[in-house]
Amino acid sequence: MEEKCFLCGKTARVESTTCQSNAEGTHKVVCERCGTYHITESASEAVQDDPELEKKRWIFAGYTREHSEFVRPVRLDTPSLHQIPFSSEVPRDVSEKMDKVLSYIARKSEFAGHAVCLVFDNDYPVAFARDRRELDYFARCLCGMSILQMDITNNNFAKFTLTPGGWQRYEILKKSRLLSKQAFVAMASGEKMKDVFQNGISKAIVEAGYEPLLIEIEEHNERICDRIIAEIRRSKFVVADVTCHRPNVYFEAGFAMGLNLEVFFTCREDAFDQRHFDTSQYKHTLWKTPEDLYTSLLWRIKARNL
Ligand SMILES: [Zn+2]
Repeated sequence: MEEKCFLCGKTARVESTTCQSNAEGTHKVVCERCGTYHITESASEAVQDDPELEKKRWIFAGYTREHSEFVRPVRLDTPSLHQIPFSSEVPRDVSEKMDKVLSYIARKSEFAGHAVCLVFDNDYPVAFARDRRELDYFARCLCGMSILQMDITNNNFAKFTLTPGGWQRYEILKKSRLLSKQAFVAMASGEKMKDVFQNGISKAIVEAGYEPLLIEIEEHNERICDRIIAEIRRSKFVVADVTCHRPNVYFEAGFAMGLNLEVFFTCREDAFDQRHFDTSQYKHTLWKTPEDLYTSLLWRIKARNL
């Protein structure tokens, strides 16, 4: 059914599912600007009625567009609307917004030298821009910086190719956190925990669309090595299982939080009261079996819409 997109107001295709039992009804929206996304009924009202959320609609539009094209369509509920503005995927300044445009052109290029079209009125969310003029400005800046080359242009759209310098910049970006699919796993090593990693943590991360990285370290030599620091820096988020109370796990989680990365704490239920640090102000996913852990962690990662 043709209705208006809840995020940008443009005419969009909206399919609504009514609530079954206690579950809330949701809308599936297919918008030329914001991509495909799902939104709960209460979130669709909040994003229009709550002034704090209403003024952040351009952030949500950028977020849903990026996920729709490169990850998977997101589901927006009211808690996630409050969290998304703090996500590491949301650009913090002008140069990060320009990097979004550069990344978009690179990801859409089928081959080097391919001219990728930007329709300013539809595509401004790819830059997390507020309107078409902002996207137009960023694209022109990137041309001025010799990162993009404009091939054809008129009032509504332009075609851009990435220059060799643009590809170099994109390679650097890919290694950074902005485009990372990596999830760093901080946990105790050892035979017993292998099953927890394979059938719990790793399985949940992969299912959520990310790539787990576990660096095995010797039990007797829990030194924080440079590689661990570097890998946390380039990760999208961290899963920290505190079951065996290893100091390195707390260190790695704290380091990640200092970088503003999302940290998902998990702990085996019977070990929760013996934690060395009181991290109880942060939500922990408590588990009994790796299968438990898989299900709960998967939903926590998905709900967080990273
Ligand atoms: Zn829209």
